[in-house]
Amino acid sequence: GSDISLVHSGKLTTCTHLPYAPFQSKEGKKVVGFDVDLVDFIASALKVKQEIVDTPFEGIQSGEDLNANKCDVAAAGMTINEVREKNLDFSTPYFEATQALVTKKGKPYSSLADLKGKKLAVQQGTTGEAYAQKNAKGAELVQFEDLALLLTAVKTGQVDAGVNDNGVLYDYVKDNPDTEVTAEFNTGEQYGIAVRTGNDALRKKINKVLKQVRSDGRYDRIYKKWFGT
Ligand code: GLN
Repeated sequence: GSDISLVHSGKLTTCTHLPYAPFQSKEGKKVVGFDVDLVDFIASALKVKQEIVDTPFEGIQSGEDLNANKCDVAAAGMTINEVREKNLDFSTPYFEATQALVTKKGKPYSSLADLKGKKLAVQQGTTGEAYAQKNAKGAELVQFEDLALLLTAVKTGQVDAGVNDNGVLYDYVKDNPDTEVTAEFNTGEQYGIAVRTGNDALRKKINKVLKQVRSDGRYDRIYKKWFGT
């Protein structure tokens, strides 16, 4: 039979939250990135095209979007965790991440303790926000809706530092040499592709493709493409 029955609109619709480079960001009108390429492999195994739906992270991580059939999958550099597992189902892990700290170069902030009484930017609904709430005692947390707003606030000095995933922060500082990553926090996170709760048919298919692309070199190829090593 055709795997087209695994998706609900003749396309593989992907909920994501832009921008989150190098996992997903806009290049002109196109959405590109590591997650986009990875989900393209899944779409191609299903013999359908991927269609990306840009939507707030809150509705993605809460499971609301998937369970309302807004999308077939969510791929948003999203960390697998227990709370989220209650509201959506994850594929096997496809990427390792950890929380990290970004500041303007030359500022004396290399730990959360250094940010006591200072402004620390966090991104709404993320594991980084939860980590900062728990561990940045005495810092003033300033919430941003997306990564770009958070990074601009750090760069312009509107906040003293920001917390987010290491992969996106290293990608940013590469192009913004007036900023730097000064700490990593070893939160030991893993990203997963999410499906609606109970959609085991699609989840199993995704796991199969993830295994395939890791063994046939396609995973390594897109890793090199987006992370350059
Ligand atoms: N990995 C983090 C989380 O899952 C951030 C994801 C994101 O902002 N797209 O909360």
